[in-house]
Amino acid sequence: MKLGLIVAMEEELKIVLDNMDINEKTEYAGMIFYDGIYKGVKTIAVICGIGKVNSAICTQILISTFEVDKVINIGVAGGIGELEPGDVVIANSLVQHDVDASGFNYDLGRIPRLDTFDFKPDRELLEIARKACKKIDNHKIYEGRIVTGDQFINSSEKANWLKRYFGAIACEMEGASIAQVAYLNKIPFIVIRSISDNADKKASISFDEFINIAAENATIILENLLKEISKIEEDK
Ligand code: SAH
Repeated sequence: MKLGLIVAMEEELKIVLDNMDINEKTEYAGMIFYDGIYKGVKTIAVICGIGKVNSAICTQILISTFEVDKVINIGVAGGIGELEPGDVVIANSLVQHDVDASGFNYDLGRIPRLDTFDFKPDRELLEIARKACKKIDNHKIYEGRIVTGDQFINSSEKANWLKRYFGAIACEMEGASIAQVAYLNKIPFIVIRSISDNADKKASISFDEFINIAAENATIILENLLKEISKIEEDK
């Protein structure tokens, strides 16, 4: 079993890289792929850069070149509604909120000529993630829909609309495009994010304040998740 671990920014991979046994580093499309062992699991870890194009390219490289069996995306996100900085979200659904083919009568978010727009994480990974979260009692953990777009959301009007229209509890810029690539390649995936801001007008200030705490919280869940995966692999 080989795991692909994607983050958008270096802050989100710092703890992993500090603790990973790295065997090899390879560069593709300007991205460095770290090949090694993390928490007992063969892992390719990579910082893909911000946004849907970077994250989609990166996911395809992980799948086609490194032949990973599962893809995990961790990082930070804007919280919508009651979610506060530091809280953790496990996505049970991912939608690209900026897809708009309404001129052809498609609902917003629907991708023309694709059989779905609502990408679901792997059931087994979701179960393991829930289990991993139960071991943590000092963080609030939510499960729900994360929406993705090539936009940093810093308006409470827009955030409220994302909640009303899509039922989103968090927004970010990579998760659903990673999910779409994984879906098209039939590769199991999961997205786990921790809240860095409230996607409102103070979002950029809050983001700078909380990015490291949020990145750490997402990494704690990841570590527990990988420990569970390595136990399952050992039992096989
Ligand atoms: N400060 C950065 C830009 C960050 S863009 C710079 O100077 O380069 C925001 C990143 O965090 C994206 O990777 C996105 O996935 C996530 N994110 C956190 N809060 C977000 C929000 N409110 N809206 C959209 N993405 C958000």
